[in-house]
Amino acid sequence: MRTPFVAGNWKMNKTSTEAKALILELKDGLEKITNVEIVVCPPFISVPAVSNLLETSSIGVGTQNVHWEDNGAYTGEISAPMVKEFANYVIIGHSERRTYFGETDETVNLRLKAALKAGLIPIVCVGETLEENEAGKTFDIVSNQIRNGFTGITESEMKSVVVAYEPVWAIGTGKACDAETANEVILKTIREPIQAMFGADVSSELRILYGGSVKGSNAKEYFSQPDIDGALVGGASLKPDFIDIAKAAGAC
Ligand code: PEP
Repeated sequence: MRTPFVAGNWKMNKTSTEAKALILELKDGLEKITNVEIVVCPPFISVPAVSNLLETSSIGVGTQNVHWEDNGAYTGEISAPMVKEFANYVIIGHSERRTYFGETDETVNLRLKAALKAGLIPIVCVGETLEENEAGKTFDIVSNQIRNGFTGITESEMKSVVVAYEPVWAIGTGKACDAETANEVILKTIREPIQAMFGADVSSELRILYGGSVKGSNAKEYFSQPDIDGALVGGASLKPDFIDIAKAAGAC
């Protein structure tokens, strides 16, 4: 039985003051949901403040990226040991990082290894673009992202990993991928390749999220699917709707 998992990606939204106000608005509602692992991922600069407010809370905190070196001449970057002082989770390979900041499967793999070494729980994002989807390349693209992204990871490290399938064309567009299709892509391009790489136990225990325009009103459709264990939520995680999404995850 996989514990449902819901993560909120606040992207580049909210000043530190606003981030504190947002978590105080969501905290009580989220804490009542005891059977779902719930995580919020504010911008780096707000992570200490949010983490401080959640010190005794069941709600976890994550960052939206991490560098692969522990320290050094990498201006503007944040390393995994730095993250670990304030957070236990990290999003890796989000499509906005891949599209706007040149991330590749290789850098995803490096970041993943650094996160695991520091004891962070990685939420690794994969997904095809609209062009790739329309060209019928979804299965090849996503399964390659999985194979390349997870090269050199051990079976025991895989136990803490979470994967998010996020079709790029569904992120922030209001055009969600239908639930049956998302489940099929997840099964064929994530769960089955992971089984081939790491065995049936790792594959059946791996938590796989759907991400892309999830809202309180459509969340249940996704969580009712056998291979979808939760959601990575962008826009709706900045609103009380996030509580309804987490509730829906706990009810399925
Ligand atoms: C995301 O940021 O990962 C995401 C899925 O965004 P949205 O829910 O807004 O589509």
